[in-house]
Amino acid sequence: MPIYKAPVDDTLFLLNDVLHLERYGNLAGFSDVPPDVLAQIIGEAGKICEERLQPLNRSGDAEGCRLDASGEVTTPTGFEEAYREFVAGGWVGLAVPPEYDGQGLPYTLAVVMNEFASAANMSFAMYPGLTQGALAALLRHGDEEQKRLFAPPMAAGRWTGTMNLTEPQCGTDLGLLNTKASPRADGSYAISGQKIFISAGEHDLSENIIHLVLARIDGAPAGVKGISLFIVPKYEVNPDGTLGARNAVRCGALEHKMGIHGNATCVMNYDGARGFLVGEPNRGLNAMFVMMNEARLGVAVQGLAQSEVAYQNAAAYAKERLQGRALTGAKNAGGGADPIIVHPDIRRGLMEMKAFNEAARGLALATALDSDIAHRSQDAKARQAADDRLGLLTPVLKGVLTDLGFESAVKAQQIWGGHGYIDENGVEQFVRDARITMIYEGANGIQALDLVGRKLPKDNGRAAMAYFAEVSEFIAHESSDEMKPFVEPLKVALGDLQKATIWLMQNALAKPDNGAGASYDYMHLFGRVALGYTWARIARAALAKKKETPDDAAWLDAKLTTGRFFMEKMLPETSFRLARITAGVDTLMSLPAEMF
Ligand SMILES: Cc1cc2nc3c(=O)[nH]c(=O)nc-3n(C[C@H](O)[C@H](O)[C@H](O)COP(=O)(O)OP(=O)(O)OC[C@H]3O[C@@H](n4cnc5c(N)ncnc54)[C@H](O)[C@@H]3O)c2cc1C
Repeated sequence: MPIYKAPVDDTLFLLNDVLHLERYGNLAGFSDVPPDVLAQIIGEAGKICEERLQPLNRSGDAEGCRLDASGEVTTPTGFEEAYREFVAGGWVGLAVPPEYDGQGLPYTLAVVMNEFASAANMSFAMYPGLTQGALAALLRHGDEEQKRLFAPPMAAGRWTGTMNLTEPQCGTDLGLLNTKASPRADGSYAISGQKIFISAGEHDLSENIIHLVLARIDGAPAGVKGISLFIVPKYEVNPDGTLGARNAVRCGALEHKMGIHGNATCVMNYDGARGFLVGEPNRGLNAMFVMMNEARLGVAVQGLAQSEVAYQNAAAYAKERLQGRALTGAKNAGGGADPIIVHPDIRRGLMEMKAFNEAARGLALATALDSDIAHRSQDAKARQAADDRLGLLTPVLKGVLTDLGFESAVKAQQIWGGHGYIDENGVEQFVRDARITMIYEGANGIQALDLVGRKLPKDNGRAAMAYFAEVSEFIAHESSDEMKPFVEPLKVALGDLQKATIWLMQNALAKPDNGAGASYDYMHLFGRVALGYTWARIARAALAKKKETPDDAAWLDAKLTTGRFFMEKMLPETSFRLARITAGVDTLMSLPAEMF
């Protein structure tokens, strides 16, 4: 059976020693989590994920969701009880302001929970995860009455949320959206159309489901400028918050899919359903982007989460599975063979996963903290700097953490050999579940375009320039001998990123294919630098902590070795990416379509 142990110690080290959460006591909610409370919350988060969610992961995958003739969906056995427990723990509304019945704690902690829950059971974690995203959009763009009516039950987990963008003819290109919204005399709208691939679109976990739906008001302009956002509840909601009539929205089918079988991916049919406009007409994409940005970070963390659980299972197996002998002489002389962890190639896979996981976690938490600062700080300059970094790094995290997360799942499967390919051991599920993270919430190719086409040039490159300056300052400041193995490779990698950025500035404007053709490599080049910078920050903290608490030396030394592995073996990918970028797109674009 697969195992999972939530990385509580690593998370606490990152929050306390690397990010210094205690320095942010001036942000709303942060003073409620001094180190002892933080440790308790994170310990509890780990516990429910290990004990309640993870045991349902394989059975949920095997059983999947069921749709009955009346359009009701049943989630796998055990999900409902686990969901009740999850909700009772207050985990859905962890970061929601107290005036909407949330706990008002840092969003950073919600991201921690998202990692643990997604590693334990990604299908399950998506039900509360989508609710949190929908809530974020409602709290930012809904009017007072909408917030009063919908936010508290969602924060309590009694109602869940969804996001409805995709239609059969409309995936990436939202300008093609057809769903209609016709004004009614009472100020509401009649929503008609079909949405596909809607995660958690219908299920039996909550009393009501609040769909956030993109639709086009009659007479609205064509393209993305004519899209509005609507709340469409499964059950209508009376002014006193009680449930009213069943609305005209139904699940028409469940998609049959490669992974995340425990999450209901629904075809949703809107048949004149009553909907309520959120924000201004024709500005729906703006509002939906709040949800999408939060969801992108959430999906990035799903990539990390699958990588972590895959790694843990690979490491355990590598210590157990006996095959061959160590090249340096038998390590298990009494047994017929040595454990495969003695083989350098098995080590390569394990080290690559471990080095990725620890930095990816640090990067995701640093970005979550930026989100907290951007939304909660009183200091306008700090807000802007954090918001710039958040905007810049969100597509990098989504693209890179999910690509590398999937690669980790495949590496773990490789370490398990044929036993990882058959379904009996649960390892192939990690590969199947991780794969979707590269596709949904904007396929990774689109993240790369967002980075190069929008985020990089935004405000004349302010965010990117500030980021490069921050990394350069770190390198200049950390010149001690013990930091050299970290900052010297980082300096080279940052140089590659800067060269690539200049190449884009010089070549992409005149020839847009240069920018688009380079974007995927650029996203990964950026990602390596961001992970390398995170490793350098982790190393600095580990070195300092070693002096304070020598008892932790073995754990901290392992961390420093893992970081050096990243710097030596994984960071140099930046030069390969730079070479691909500066080669341009002539060979990429020259074949006529009929030659493919
Ligand atoms: C399991 C699952 C759950 C999902 N959950 C939800 C959900 O809850 N809500 C929701 O609304 N949607 C959901 N989706 C839909 C998902 O977000 C879309 O599948 C995704 O956005 C891509 O759209 P598409 O599948 O139509 O692909 P397409 O848009 O047809 O894209 C196909 C390929 O072309 C590329 N491409 C497209 N346009 C460009 C371009 N201009 N430049 C370069 N490359 C381009 C894409 O990157 C992709 O690789 C889900 C999908 C799945 C499979």
